[in-house]
Amino acid sequence: MADFDIAIIGGGPGGITAGIYAARKNLKTALFERKAIGGNIVGTVRIENYPGFDRISGIDLAERMESQLRQNKVEVIAGEVTGLELNGEEKRIMAGEREYTSKAVILAMGSTHRMMGIPGEKEYFGKGVFFCATCDAPLMKGKKVAVIGGGNSGLEAAIYLADMCEKVYLVHRRDTLRADEALQDEIPGHKNIELVLDSEPFEVKGNMLADKLLVRNTRTQAIRDLAVSGIFVQIGELPNTEMVAGSGIELDGRKRIKINCHQETNIGGVYAIGDVTDAYWQIVIAAGHGATAALRAYDHIKHKR
Ligand code: NAP
Repeated sequence: MADFDIAIIGGGPGGITAGIYAARKNLKTALFERKAIGGNIVGTVRIENYPGFDRISGIDLAERMESQLRQNKVEVIAGEVTGLELNGEEKRIMAGEREYTSKAVILAMGSTHRMMGIPGEKEYFGKGVFFCATCDAPLMKGKKVAVIGGGNSGLEAAIYLADMCEKVYLVHRRDTLRADEALQDEIPGHKNIELVLDSEPFEVKGNMLADKLLVRNTRTQAIRDLAVSGIFVQIGELPNTEMVAGSGIELDGRKRIKINCHQETNIGGVYAIGDVTDAYWQIVIAAGHGATAALRAYDHIKHKR
């Protein structure tokens, strides 16, 4: 007999929602998480597009979601999943020193920050180069900083930092921003945000701490030194799908898991949700995926759909 009906790999908004739905169907449910419950939203400055909250920080939303999860009968297993065998009727999950079995698996491993891959970035990581605005902004009070990336994360970080920093350079490699229009409309209201468009960073310099970002204008090739104490890298995310490489799960060209409208992968009893899939990467969408996957897994287990 399998240890669990459903094993959820990852505790972001999608995994949490799947856990709540599965538990309410009385399915024996495990949720594996290697870091903090909440996933990437823990580092999100503010969320204004999750219904029910006009504005909420990522940490607050994660705490509310975790509290709701814990009110349900879900076994939360802390630790890294190191291997998956998904092809058989009974799925195998290797985590820590143990192996678990489950009738269904929901893949919800989320995504990881993309790095710029330029000299100095790794060397100064944590010493002026950061990924998380909410976590590291307090170190930058009254200082000059740069935010890299013109997507939602970049603009949210720039607006947040503008309230506490002397100056924010928002560096974007094209001349039009990618972020939602509502965020773009806020930029002119922050006089200390300077848009550095058509510009690509190519080196981080410093001594003990980073103190300079070098950017090149992609049209003129002109080089500019930005004297900054903080560099916040917000250039997108990469799906955490290395774990399923070689497992038989079908990925697309961008290493995202292929799913149908029921969150089913190409392997029976295996579902994928949120940022590991090729859907829009939004909290509300991950949550919807989680509900769909749990209900579909329930049908699979009970009726062998
Ligand atoms: P994103 O939307 O993919 O934007 C990434 C930004 O970084 C773009 O400006 C991109 O430029 C730039 N970029 C990519 N690679 C680069 C490189 N190597 N060097 C320099 N610049 C580079 O990523 P994100 O803002 O991190 O957001 C990730 C996902 O989460 C998105 O789907 C986003 O919509 C979602 N998200 C949603 C919310 C929300 O709804 N509240 C908040 C945050 C994030 P190009 O435009 O030229 O490609």
